[in-house]
Amino acid sequence: MVRYVYDFTQGGRDMAGLLGGKGANLAEMTRLGLPVPPGFVITTEACRAFLATGGEPAGLWREVSGRLEALEAAAGRRLGQPDDPLLVSVRSGARFSMPGMMETILDIGLNDDSVLGLAKVSGSERFAWDSYRRLLQMFGSTVMGVDAALFEGELALLKDVRGIPDDVHLGAADLARLVEIYKDLIHDETGDWFPQCPAEQLRRAVLAVFASWNGQRARLYRRREHIPDGLGTAVTVQRMVFGNLGPDSGSGVAFTRDPATGRPGPYGDYLADAQGEDVVAGVRDTVPLTELERRDPGSYARLREHLRTLERHYRDLCDIEFTIERGTLWILQTRVGKRTAEAAFAIAAQLADERVITPDEGLARVSGEELARLMFPRFDTSATGDALARGVPASPGAAVGAAVFDSAEAVRRAAAGEKVVLVRQETTPDDLPGMIAAQAVLTSRGGKTSHAAVVARGMGKVCVCGAEELSVDVRARHFTAPDGTVVGEGTVLSVDGSAGAVYPGSVPLVDSAVMRFLEGGDTDEKAAGVVEAVARALARADTVRRLEVRANADTPEDAARARRFGAQGIGLCRTEHMFLGERRQLVEDMILARSDTERDRALAALLPLQRRDFTGILQAMDGLPVTIRLLDPPLHEFLPDRTELAVRIATARARGDLPDPHDAELLAAVNRMHEENPMLGLRGVRLGLLVPGLVAMQVRAIGEAVVERTRAGGTPRAEIMVPLVGDVRELRIVRDEVERVLAEVSEESGVLVTCPVGTMIELPRAALTAGRIAEEAQFFSFGTNDLTQTTWGFSRDDVEAEFFSAYLDRGVFPASPFETLDIDGVGRLVRIAVAEGRAARPDLTIGVCGEHGGDPGSVHFFHTAGLDYVSCSPFRVPVARLEAGRAAL
Ligand code: PEP
Ligand code: MG
Repeated sequence: MVRYVYDFTQGGRDMAGLLGGKGANLAEMTRLGLPVPPGFVITTEACRAFLATGGEPAGLWREVSGRLEALEAAAGRRLGQPDDPLLVSVRSGARFSMPGMMETILDIGLNDDSVLGLAKVSGSERFAWDSYRRLLQMFGSTVMGVDAALFEGELALLKDVRGIPDDVHLGAADLARLVEIYKDLIHDETGDWFPQCPAEQLRRAVLAVFASWNGQRARLYRRREHIPDGLGTAVTVQRMVFGNLGPDSGSGVAFTRDPATGRPGPYGDYLADAQGEDVVAGVRDTVPLTELERRDPGSYARLREHLRTLERHYRDLCDIEFTIERGTLWILQTRVGKRTAEAAFAIAAQLADERVITPDEGLARVSGEELARLMFPRFDTSATGDALARGVPASPGAAVGAAVFDSAEAVRRAAAGEKVVLVRQETTPDDLPGMIAAQAVLTSRGGKTSHAAVVARGMGKVCVCGAEELSVDVRARHFTAPDGTVVGEGTVLSVDGSAGAVYPGSVPLVDSAVMRFLEGGDTDEKAAGVVEAVARALARADTVRRLEVRANADTPEDAARARRFGAQGIGLCRTEHMFLGERRQLVEDMILARSDTERDRALAALLPLQRRDFTGILQAMDGLPVTIRLLDPPLHEFLPDRTELAVRIATARARGDLPDPHDAELLAAVNRMHEENPMLGLRGVRLGLLVPGLVAMQVRAIGEAVVERTRAGGTPRAEIMVPLVGDVRELRIVRDEVERVLAEVSEESGVLVTCPVGTMIELPRAALTAGRIAEEAQFFSFGTNDLTQTTWGFSRDDVEAEFFSAYLDRGVFPASPFETLDIDGVGRLVRIAVAEGRAARPDLTIGVCGEHGGDPGSVHFFHTAGLDYVSCSPFRVPVARLEAGRAAL
């Protein structure tokens, strides 16, 4: 029989799939002997069963009742017992942390009778009524579906009527009155009364948490974070402890190290006389932990000790939520904490230094995406001027955008291509779409652990929170800075998430220190820590990785930069980029040539230009392989636009003029070459077969560049790559020509020029006949852009098509297959081609040069598929090096 419920004493951290991250860690802490209020976990399996059928899984309630009885027996009182009620919290907890995305219900067990008992045993009527109204609010909205804003509205109305400025000043009688108002509100809205039976409260709360897995917020978050929809959430049921029982009580959040910079030491926020939700919501201002040390040194010392225990045990940065109930410290949650990119590198290096983890584990703890984030520019501090306001530097980076004051506006403007900064007093999970759409988030309330801060850090989004000097009026859509400046919707702001500052207007950006280091520049002292941590991670990656990393580069400058970033050659030099600009005319002459002589003349004019290009690139990459691809795109791409030409000619005619004869000639050529599907038309190797002299000119330019570099004392290593091959015979024809031309060049120059000749594998037919193709190819390079296009039948040029976002929404794929390789389909073709290619030619070199070569997930696949190298844009080279190292661990 399936078992759905586990006591905290029965689980452990390795059970996160079943108990969720929160439940598994609570069980682990219980085993470690930390002060965790007792409780039990309902498994993700129960959630999945519920989601599949829409009903309570058979046998679940019997198990829950059994566990509840044990909890009651241990506490010596029953759930909701009128004279001394046991109260429980019901919280979601999925395998992967989804902060604030699902529901939590506290104070289950309170009703019209037990609220009086709670008042008596706690000695505080105010506390009891406040707890009861919180339960009504949470239960009413989450379980019974009443709009949460209606509760807030009633609360605001009561405060208005009573002339009370904030919640803290509501007395017991006010709160008791509010309870009545809330009960009526629930009844008016739903036709049902709030259930007085504690067991029924618990049962319905559990099912509501299950259901919240499929809430809109949670689904959106999962899509962003690539969390599978099928996992479901566990539910923890735990005895309530209270931080709001007076000045010797409180709640807080603590980290074993600073999650923004990685600096060691306990770090966090505390709020006296408050429940945990108040800390995270940012509605009241927290104080740093040092303040707790002053007020309650005993609890602080215990807290430090527990943090140490946890970090030693988990061997990583941990964060906890804790509550102090009348001087007794309780830990309510722990997890390996989220951190900024900078902190991730710093912590990995520190823990390796402290010998808590091995260097390989250190490498596994950082990611290419984090490295990419550190390569972003920051603001030029000499150009910032005075800050409008300062707040907490919650998530680093620099962003510029127009101020917007709600989520919907952020989404609307971002969809229209505008960059925006979402400004709020504080954020709630409802603001998630706006946070995703915005470049930065700015709030006037809350600390580093507020919702805005936690979520922004998780997304790598710039965030300044708790900028208290700002008076934010969301309704009027403006904020007022301390100097009186009023900033309305649409006004451009610059937000510095590293310094916690907000500037008016658009502040210029400067390169990041990490970028400067990667490019071989000096490091300024302030950034030395993170730069060193990055250098160490990359050095480790370079030691362990099997995959080589090359760059896609078409100019000597890009090649040189790629080399500084650690590229081990060029995996793709796209020669079409050399046919643009002033050279367009020569290309046009070649296309329009009316005779062989005319064409040869045009090609002869292009030859020295191409030779110069190749010489420069071979020089920048001297000693390393440079894979030069023969011309790929359809020729009409080099001619003027068909419609433009037609309009030009028609306008001339309408004016009564004779159209320019050149225009007429061009239009005729464009019409001749017009294709409905140029991407599937006369391009790639097909051009080489159809346009006489084109391949020969390019190969001659490559050969002569090799001669020039050799004579200059260099070690040029050019490789010639043929695009869009579908059949071995195409390749054979081109290869024969390549060899003929190289033999000519050798003969003329007296320098022996040999270049490996290989092909791109970017058509399914090429992958499926790779064994045959390998007879003629000395290397393969997967063109996964075209291979994805032709495998799926999706047009590369229309990836923004509407159906793509519908496909993402509906879970057909978790990410665009043009960004992250489709392993099941395209990946299978890759594996077939690798196996058959190597079977035919064991020394076949195999790489990839599509966009996927710089995508972390795809790099891991290419490692396992046995490729020799990945090639990506120069800026992704460090990312690919790091990920290739991580893939090899
Ligand atoms: C590819 O198709 O993956 C490729 C690298 O070639 P291009 O993007 O130039 O078509
Ligand atoms: Mg291609």
